[in-house]
Amino acid sequence: MKIYNTLTRRKEEFVPLVPGKISMYVCGPTVYGMIHIGNARPMIIFDTFRRYMESRGYEVNFVSNFTDVDDKIIKKANEEGVDAGVISERYIEECRKDMKAMNVREATTHPKATEEIDGMIDMISTLIEKGFAYVAEDGTVYYRTRKFKDYGKLSHKNLDDLRGGNRSLLVTGEDQKDDPLDFVLWKPKKEGEIFWQSPWCEGRPGWHIECSVMSKKYLGEEIDIHAGGEDLIFPHHENEIAQSEAANGKPFAKYWMHNAFLNIDNRKMSKSDGNFFTVREISEKYDLQVFRFFMLSAHYRSPFNFSEELIQSAANGYERIVNTVSNLNFLIKNAKEDAASDAEKALLEEASSFKERFRDAMDDDLNTADAISVIFELVKFVNTNTGDASSKEFLSGLKDRILELTDILGLIVDKKEEILDDEIEALIEARKNARKNKDFALADRIRQDLLDQGIVLEDTREGVKWHRS
Ligand code: AMP
Ligand code: ZN
Repeated sequence: MKIYNTLTRRKEEFVPLVPGKISMYVCGPTVYGMIHIGNARPMIIFDTFRRYMESRGYEVNFVSNFTDVDDKIIKKANEEGVDAGVISERYIEECRKDMKAMNVREATTHPKATEEIDGMIDMISTLIEKGFAYVAEDGTVYYRTRKFKDYGKLSHKNLDDLRGGNRSLLVTGEDQKDDPLDFVLWKPKKEGEIFWQSPWCEGRPGWHIECSVMSKKYLGEEIDIHAGGEDLIFPHHENEIAQSEAANGKPFAKYWMHNAFLNIDNRKMSKSDGNFFTVREISEKYDLQVFRFFMLSAHYRSPFNFSEELIQSAANGYERIVNTVSNLNFLIKNAKEDAASDAEKALLEEASSFKERFRDAMDDDLNTADAISVIFELVKFVNTNTGDASSKEFLSGLKDRILELTDILGLIVDKKEEILDDEIEALIEARKNARKNKDFALADRIRQDLLDQGIVLEDTREGVKWHRS
């Protein structure tokens, strides 16, 4: 597997620190509102990366944080007259719902910044002891950027060209810094703000320190992969490297992966000029499986554009796969022959070769666009080689081969047909007869089959009642 590493600006062969295992950290969202479709890009991409590596036999420890203390969260809390925790908990909950609907799996751990303050205080203390940080008069702690000799190695920036354009610097005065490049590790509280005790002042952490600390706690000092959107390369990830490597005295992450940005109608997403969609808004118009398919139809390092036209064409592409699988389901149900013929066995063999090509695409820096093309070719192969005369074994084998690939992409394409009320009533009647004939095994099987399809039976005095679960 080759991965493009932002650190070296090259595609490199992926070699994990520990054979068979991957430690991976993905910077998560700041939770002050519903996530937007741009936030969904790293979620879907790195979830797909994880699924693919698991399919190759790796055990992946996947950590992704929620930034639950931040100026925007505090501002929103003040507007609503509630605690910051009410806002962050609300939007973590909503974010989890969106992730589930996009079939983005839960991380191994989803740490929250506010629950890791002790670790942050420890790391800041270490940085002060080692001379990489200093305390200003008002209790703000700054990182002494020039002391870290490798500063700029990720963003490939020269220290002297840098300006201190840093999100946390907006909060505190520039004047008390030794150098404009220094950035905040800890800052004093302001009136009405959430705060924690620390050796320096009552206050809260800067943004960058949280990821250095959570990555260390849940994955160790050295990790395989650190990932996020490309806007995070500078200053966030550059600062994380400076903090972690200075504090731990070890290299931090071996590979740095960054997704390019998603635009809308070829313009930068912006809430203020209305060029903006939340994932929830999109879910009201489209199946989020279509949205996931759309997101994977471009390479993650290419800037990508969202438009009605493009998502409509993604919907058509996705439907082609879904229809093929649903057609296979129909043929399987009605197949006359069970076992595959020799000719069918040869075709199954041929169908397996698509997986090799799918892997080649994914091994080339997660080229999901090419991987999807391979799925389309497989779908075409299936459609041209199946019909009423096909055997069950052959049809099921083909279906398995499609689902094996779509599962890796996290795409749900096997839509279970909804069982109709009439069919349910007929099965309940059949179960009643089975019980009358003391065939309890059959009666139980009918109950279980219905349950598998989400139908719950209840035996009451007035007879059997049912509902959909
Ligand atoms: P934030 O909540 O702003 O910290 O963003 C959470 C994640 O979403 C980060 O990895 C960002 O880089 C990523 N992100 C934000 N906007 C976009 C966008 N328009 N396209 C792609 N990724 C984005
Ligand atoms: Zn981060």
